[in-house]
Amino acid sequence: MHDDRNLVEARLKRVLDERIRPAVYPESVPLDVAVWHAPGEPVPVEEGLAATPEPIAPGAAWGAPWGTSWFTVTGTVPAEWAGRTVEALFDLGFDENMPGFQSEGLVYRPDGSPVKGLNPRNHWVRVGSPAEGGERVRLHIEAASNPVILGHPPFQPTHLGDKETAGTAPLYRLGRMDLAVFDETVWQLVMDLEVLGELMLELPAGGTRRWELLRALERALDAVDLQDVNGTAAAARAELTGVLSSPAVPSAHRISAVGHAHIDSAWLWPLRETVRKVARTASNMTALLEDEPDFVFAMSQAQQWAWIKEYRPEVWARVTKAVATGRFVPAGGMWVESDTNMPGSEAMARQFVHGKRFFIDEFGIDNEEVWLPDTFGFAAGLPQIIKAAGSKRLLTQKISWSQTNTFPHHTFLWEGIDGTRIFTHFPPVDTYNCSMSGREMAHAERNFKDKGTARHSLAPTGWGDGGGGTTREMVAKAARLRDLEGSPAVTWEPPADFFAKAEAEYPNPPVWVGELYLELHRATLTSQAKTKQGNRRSESLLREAELWAATAAVRTGASYPYEQLDRIWKTVLLHQFHDILPGSSIAWVHREARRTYEAVASELNGVIDAAQRALAGDGDRTVVFNGAPHTRHGVPGGGARVVSGLRGTEARVRDAGGFVLENDLLRVEIDDRGLVVSAYDLSAGRETVAPGQAANLLQLHPDFPNKWDAWDVDEFYRNTLTDLVEAEEVDLDGDSVRVRRSFGSSSVTQLLTLAGGRLDILTEVDWHETEKFLKLAFPLDVRADRYASESQFGHAFRATHTNTSWEAAKFEACNHRFVHVEEPGWGVALVNDSTYGHDVTRTVGDSGTTTTLRVSLLRAPRFPDPETDQGVHRFRHALVPGATIGDAVREGYFINLPERHVSGAASAEVEPLITVDDDAVVVTAVKLADDGSGDVIVRFHESRGGRAGVTLAPGFPVAEVVATDLLERPTGEGALSLSLRPFELVTLRLKRA
Ligand SMILES: [Zn+2]
Repeated sequence: MHDDRNLVEARLKRVLDERIRPAVYPESVPLDVAVWHAPGEPVPVEEGLAATPEPIAPGAAWGAPWGTSWFTVTGTVPAEWAGRTVEALFDLGFDENMPGFQSEGLVYRPDGSPVKGLNPRNHWVRVGSPAEGGERVRLHIEAASNPVILGHPPFQPTHLGDKETAGTAPLYRLGRMDLAVFDETVWQLVMDLEVLGELMLELPAGGTRRWELLRALERALDAVDLQDVNGTAAAARAELTGVLSSPAVPSAHRISAVGHAHIDSAWLWPLRETVRKVARTASNMTALLEDEPDFVFAMSQAQQWAWIKEYRPEVWARVTKAVATGRFVPAGGMWVESDTNMPGSEAMARQFVHGKRFFIDEFGIDNEEVWLPDTFGFAAGLPQIIKAAGSKRLLTQKISWSQTNTFPHHTFLWEGIDGTRIFTHFPPVDTYNCSMSGREMAHAERNFKDKGTARHSLAPTGWGDGGGGTTREMVAKAARLRDLEGSPAVTWEPPADFFAKAEAEYPNPPVWVGELYLELHRATLTSQAKTKQGNRRSESLLREAELWAATAAVRTGASYPYEQLDRIWKTVLLHQFHDILPGSSIAWVHREARRTYEAVASELNGVIDAAQRALAGDGDRTVVFNGAPHTRHGVPGGGARVVSGLRGTEARVRDAGGFVLENDLLRVEIDDRGLVVSAYDLSAGRETVAPGQAANLLQLHPDFPNKWDAWDVDEFYRNTLTDLVEAEEVDLDGDSVRVRRSFGSSSVTQLLTLAGGRLDILTEVDWHETEKFLKLAFPLDVRADRYASESQFGHAFRATHTNTSWEAAKFEACNHRFVHVEEPGWGVALVNDSTYGHDVTRTVGDSGTTTTLRVSLLRAPRFPDPETDQGVHRFRHALVPGATIGDAVREGYFINLPERHVSGAASAEVEPLITVDDDAVVVTAVKLADDGSGDVIVRFHESRGGRAGVTLAPGFPVAEVVATDLLERPTGEGALSLSLRPFELVTLRLKRA
């Protein structure tokens, strides 16, 4: 037989595009449209409905950037349409390729009840099948003229990302606003042809099934009269029933489809727009659930649910009703889909506490799955946190974005720093926006690495990023793929049902130990420095606020600010969302974040001040409060003492130029370039700085990645660098050395000070560069094959060398408060108060191998915020020569939690609520229980990666000790004397006597 495959395939495409799809709506009449443009920010629904609109015609321009326009559409169903299915079609000026990234709308009835959301892939509203015609139609559309930020070509700097700079020129032209007849038979034919046509293209050209599909499709096309598609669609469908009813082969891959809309809580839109995005998507999905009995939808991020509850009660009523059916499912159990590299220990824990608690309180649902499809890598501390929250499974697809290495598994056990293992699945469909296309289905099966042993994978299905969710077309395709020869078999089900099957079929999955490093988006550890500082400082302040408020409550009976702390925690957790803390949102988001963090700091300082004043009593003596976990200057961690007279530093001129700073622990030489040429550990008798090199060296790189400007730093940035060694001033300032430099359009002032065994470096940068990367380098006379970076509840190691492509790819990585390198018996820590990115490299020279730690200070990408990081920034770092891991942990806390000095009584002496007798055990939280019982909650962990036998001494009478999970739910009997495994995390509830 002659091979006419290409001919039939091309015919199918043209006939579908040009004749059959247009015939879905064979008749239409225009609606009357009027519009009212809200003057500023979005208005309440009642106000939008009550406004007086002006007439507007299709083709007219509308929509200033970030504006809200209320359209009123009215019309009459023609009498001759009686008995036919009628839909309203609304085209706000859509580009069909960008659902969620441009204008969107929510349709309301005149009584203010929501109907469904509008986006470029979902712009119909069912009017009904009126028996007689003549029915009046009146609907309202709350339309958001959100600008396209990520356009074509992508990643171009734009001022549209902030309402303050976006201008007012209209962005959209109103398209078709019609009533139309919906021909369901033609629509079903489109679905048949798409499913079979897409499947056909994925099948082997030499296979029988491919040719059977080709011939069936050809017969269907022959049956269509192109002059009367509507009259012949049923006949065409009849030609396809045979191939559509041929069942999947027994070994077919099984896909659990989960309806989903990955909605970024802020990204190329501000937080306030996400509130509306969520309402639109939830309206759409509750409507789809009513129409489609097999469909299951899962929505993550408790914050988004809370927004619906607070701002859109009518949508909330529909959502709660749908949840009760078991088909609108809370996914995961976190407050937001946060970054997991940068959030500190407690904050990572609280993501689960607040996320899970919301779903438990509202619906009685306690999920065991963690749902993070889009997060930029996963810290090795996370498995233990997941387990301590009462969960046990993780889903993400993001590691498929890695540029260098292909991850070897799709279903596996992920083992964290303490040995906890979490059953983990990476959907092989490689997207969280699956649309049920034949290509996606075939890719999922081909790509699945665990074939032969496992057969199930999950496909998050629906338009995401900016929302939209699943469409009726995706549901129709899934129905045809339920049991279809040549395709994976598709079933709608909740994530938990998928995981149960996946675990059951795969009792001994492979194990991956350590972090799930994303080999991409490494610059998210640095971009938008003030957002990152706001996060770190808020975390530190929350620790102090809980600690001192709990101490004041127990010691003085002061009231504990439960509601205030709950609200502030949720604010800080929201800002850990995976496009806010990583610095990848538009300017508007980061401008608001800076203001929010200032407000958070001011409120928390108020809580801390009030508690400390209550504890210090009246008087004029200086009472020193130590909010860190370890004793400092004689003040126990979590306690306060009246202290006077601290050790000083000798500062003198250096013979070879510059200055020497010396105390009884350290002698630091700063040359006339303001560089640290020596940092001598006096107790160990050992030099810290690599021979012939200088530390505290600022280095400037060009930084123009190939894509994703705020997200990515590409490895080639290192090929070019400028050492900033020219100093305008190197001088003594009291006990400190002050260094001033200028470069490009920027300047920097540093203050170098000895603080006990630390060299503190305060760096103030007035930053006015574009597309540059500023690093602060510390070449150290240490030979180390690996180094440690603090992570949640412990630290993780990475190689200093690049033997393998996996090691080489980690050329920029995340730290919390410290990075540490050591040789047996002697090490160095570099601690910081607010930076996360760093790199560590090794150099082999005449005097042996040395190790260079570099801190990432600032970048200046121009997309999506064209002014990223412009202005003044302050960073605090400290070099700690001779540091063990334990010293690194301690000094990391100290630099983030400075002592607080409060005037108080001479007798003021605050005993800590909890004292531990082993410094390896670090208390990360002391607070009152969230249930308002007045019980004291203490969370602690082994911090050095070793064993610890520890006894906790409560500073108050305790009636009972209960072990709990992160949500403060009892898990067993607690004890005050314990032996801890490496990095083991424990939460105790201490009931007060
Ligand atoms: Zn995302």
